[in-house]
Amino acid sequence: MRVAGAGRCTVVVGSQWGDEGKGKIVDVLAEEVDIVARYQGGANAGHTVHVADGEFVLHQIPSGILHADKRCLIGNGVVLDVARFFEEYDGLANRGIDLDGRIGVSLRAHLLLPYHRWLDQAREEAASSQIGTTGRGIGPAYEDKAGRRGIRVVDVHAPERLAAMARAGLERARAAFPDRDAAGLAEELEGALSTAPRLAPLTTETGEEVWSALQGGKHVLLEGAQGTVLDLDHGTYPFVTSSTTTAAGAATGIGVGPTAIDEVLGVVKAYTTRVGNGPLPTAFSPEMDERVRRLGGEFGATTGRPRRCGWFDAVVGRLAARVNGLTGLAVTKLDVLDTLPALRIATGYRTPAGLVESFPADTALLDRVEPVYEELPGWQANTSEARSLADLPAAARAYLDRVEELLQVPVRMVSVGTRRQQIIRT
Ligand code: GDP
Repeated sequence: MRVAGAGRCTVVVGSQWGDEGKGKIVDVLAEEVDIVARYQGGANAGHTVHVADGEFVLHQIPSGILHADKRCLIGNGVVLDVARFFEEYDGLANRGIDLDGRIGVSLRAHLLLPYHRWLDQAREEAASSQIGTTGRGIGPAYEDKAGRRGIRVVDVHAPERLAAMARAGLERARAAFPDRDAAGLAEELEGALSTAPRLAPLTTETGEEVWSALQGGKHVLLEGAQGTVLDLDHGTYPFVTSSTTTAAGAATGIGVGPTAIDEVLGVVKAYTTRVGNGPLPTAFSPEMDERVRRLGGEFGATTGRPRRCGWFDAVVGRLAARVNGLTGLAVTKLDVLDTLPALRIATGYRTPAGLVESFPADTALLDRVEPVYEELPGWQANTSEARSLADLPAAARAYLDRVEELLQVPVRMVSVGTRRQQIIRT
């Protein structure tokens, strides 16, 4: 049981299909915390953070690293692409960021190795109904974890065991696709394993670190990747990622219990986007899609793939409020809507069986639903300079009020641009 008045634990969770702008929100909040930790996913995440020195795209290292003196943790729920991790590590170091003693990797996290990526791509090419994964090996790495044959970070402390397990993994992968070209894969694996001596000194028990930080009165931020409707259980299965993206995953993925969490901030875009395959009920018409994609720069940070865009979906929002236990909302990219004359919010779906207001489990049905829209006036004014709610046009405030009302979650932050200072705190 935590001592009352002790530290504070905040979870930041994507509340749509990912790419909500979590990186920016975490970057803003990181100023106020002592530890920033990732709890699931892997190198498929791509947070873009704009700071005075330019743009950083972070895949595995928490974006708190851009703030001096913050400790950054990679939790046990993450699958660590160790080769890519050190590329990112060296990239940050080369740009003058001091990383010494600032990064800890859970001993219990699983290693994502080159054969996982190779398997992911092989499966994606072979699958008749493609999921649209990022091809980064995340699914196969989590399969190995659940299949109890994965390699954990702790194994880097036992080099012989590590080598034997990796050899077995490579053989298993090749046996699954005997006809597929595997040239260079063994060398790539060697390269990844050669980072083990660099990884060993970074290892830690993330749960213990977070727990003692909280007991010592510190503020910890647990940073989610992807989003609620990509959650393995609660998302649009099978068009989902292989981990628990929702707030409960933060507890298990870092190594503390759910009662350690004090607040859950859900990040939503002021509209909706989706990358990869699977249903998007509020998808725009092709012309509108093109327009908002351009206005919002909606291309994936990891893959460069164009994102499909649509209206804000309160059905998804209510799902996110419930499964994450949201205590607040951070609405991002409000400025992207500045030029639109009218806006819509979906409040329910019309289905062949009647009107539904909660997100259906039947993913195939989502392709056939017809959203029920409410129309609100646009504000057609520049919001990017607003720093308080009072600075916003009345129609923009009304839009936010309606989102808050439909989701029954208070809006705590509004982002009106890519830069750190373009934020409204309520
Ligand atoms: P994440 O994975 O949830 O962090 O999202 P991404 O980094 O993939 O996508 C967010 C993109 O939107 C980044 O390029 C951000 O710089 C940008 N962004 C974040 N907040 C805002 C905002 O309020 N307005 C605008 N125009 N862009 C934003």
